[in-house]
Order: sequence, then C-alpha cells, then structure tokens
Amino acid sequence: MALMITDECINCDVCEPECPNEAIYLGEVIYEIDPNRCTECVGHFDEPQCVQVCPVACIPVNRAHVEDRETLWQKYRRLQAEAQAAPVPAAGAGKPAA
Ligand code: SF4
Ligand code: SF4
Repeated sequence: MALMITDECINCDVCEPECPNEAIYLGEVIYEIDPNRCTECVGHFDEPQCVQVCPVACIPVNRAHVEDRETLWQKYRRLQAEAQAAPVPAAGAGKPAA
C-alpha cells in the first residue's frame, strides 16, 4: 500500500527530502503523497523513511491503494526505469562554442 499524510501534518518539511521516490510534495494545505510513486520505500529501505522522521506520526497506510509487496516492487522498478530514461544534459552543454 502507498502511505498517506493526514491533516494532523504540521508542515514541518522533514519528510519530503527523505523520500527516495520523490513521492512527497507540498499540497494546497499540507504535505501529500503521490500513491503512484510511494513504494513504502520497498527497493530502497527496510522501513518507510517518512514514517521514521515524522514528529507527529501522521503517515498511515492509504487503504484506498491496497498493494502487496510484489506490486510495490514492480512500482519501484518502473520508477527506476523512468529515472534512467529521463534526459540528461550533454557534457559541455551551455558552454559557448570554441
Ligand atoms: Fe516516500 Fe517511502 Fe514515505 Fe512512500 S514510504 S512516501 S516512498 S518515504
Ligand atoms: Fe507533515 Fe509529518 Fe511530513 Fe512533517 S514529517 S511535513 S508533520 S507528514
């Protein structure tokens, strides 16, 4: 299952940089988790990193997104493939022509 952030969130900014999948973002009011990017940290860590650091324990599982471990692993693999397919600036890009 993906995780979710409840309205107990105090917008402390601590969890967002800890997410290895860039699944956490600041929504209109509080931080939110994109269920298409959250793998419960499967593929990266043994425990959900956001849960480890949240000072108010407001990150439960999202029961609207029931997924078993294999499904989370497949999501991790998809995200890795997408990251590798992203265009990388060519070496020397931006330098004036000689
Ligand atoms: Fe990101 Fe892991 Fe938290 Fe999911 S459980 S939002 S992948 S830090
Ligand atoms: Fe909100 Fe917890 Fe993330 Fe802080 S760590 S922004 S309280 S969800």
